[in-house]
Amino acid sequence: MTETLQFTRQLSDHRVSAEQRAAILADPGFGNYFTDHTAVVDYKVDAAGIGGWSNARVEPYGPILMDPAAAVLHYGQEIFEGMKAYRHADGSVWTFRPEANAVRFNKSAVRLALPELPEGVFVDSLRELVAVDKDWIPSGDGAALYLRPFMIATEAFLGVRPAREVSYRVIASPAGNYFGGELKPVPIWLSTRYARAGHGGTGEAKCGGNYAASLAAQLEAEAHGCKQVLFLDPTNDNAVEELGGMNIFFVFADGTLVTPELNGNILHGVTRSSIIQLAKDRGLQVQERKITIDEWREGIAGGRIAEVFACGTAAVITPIGELKTEDGSMVSPPLGADAVCMSIRRQLLGIQTGVEEDIHGWLTRL
Ligand code: PMP
Repeated sequence: MTETLQFTRQLSDHRVSAEQRAAILADPGFGNYFTDHTAVVDYKVDAAGIGGWSNARVEPYGPILMDPAAAVLHYGQEIFEGMKAYRHADGSVWTFRPEANAVRFNKSAVRLALPELPEGVFVDSLRELVAVDKDWIPSGDGAALYLRPFMIATEAFLGVRPAREVSYRVIASPAGNYFGGELKPVPIWLSTRYARAGHGGTGEAKCGGNYAASLAAQLEAEAHGCKQVLFLDPTNDNAVEELGGMNIFFVFADGTLVTPELNGNILHGVTRSSIIQLAKDRGLQVQERKITIDEWREGIAGGRIAEVFACGTAAVITPIGELKTEDGSMVSPPLGADAVCMSIRRQLLGIQTGVEEDIHGWLTRL
């Protein structure tokens, strides 16, 4: 497999005026607007059964022409990633641990029987897209250009088998604070009717189907005034797994951080692993272990749990103020000025935005 590919560029006119773009960047929300271009690489298995990536290019953003029989439309053979590009004060543009996303993308690819993409091509595709669309990177607290690499099975064939034609693409979307407005603790909804993952399933893959399957629970959450859902493993003492789009942490009163272990059911969050490292740097104990909903309930009631927070690329770190359930709610203690989650959030965001020292070499210049 070639490790690098040369990207060609076919540039478009700007899709909106500079004034319209400025207005969008002032308040982008999340996932509402898309930049002027997209990066694309094709994959095909030839007659001899040898697969290869080719035709790496940046082209104008627009609809994808696809056969109605394309496998992705029927069997959901699809994976994706999510990461951000940050503009630093000197104008340079950086992304955070892209090699970790590249590794996770390939793990997802293997699980979904899609071809692996060379890590170098993954990182180059981000660099190529950002190079032509950097005017779309917003600035301001928590703002960045969200990058969405994805891979879809494009072969027109209705038999159920791995597709022999695949398309890898990257789109980009200016993003503000994920939950909108000022950062404040959010309520989340406990789903007991639906599970997100099962043993041997696709829980730790970042595939579209996982998210489609979480939407019914999300509707339930919205009916209860929550934007995110917490999923448990009902086959494992109701162990806490993760939210629909974020990992979860608990800060115990003795300063220990606890987060569910990577047991095949949950996503290997890049933010999760970065928080574990930053907490250890501070001398805090970190336990990756099973934590059940009962331990959570008793921990809140008994004052042993001091903070609960969610984390992910989109939301960075967001405190969870309340877990709403069918039988009432569990309210987290109010956050003090010295809250661990807010301090780690400041440091992590500081590293990403170039105002804190990048002690672990996590940033890659785009
Ligand atoms: N869990 C799920 C289900 C997610 O979709 C995400 C977002 N990618 C995360 C956790 C957090 O992962 P990361 O920190 O890599 O964004």
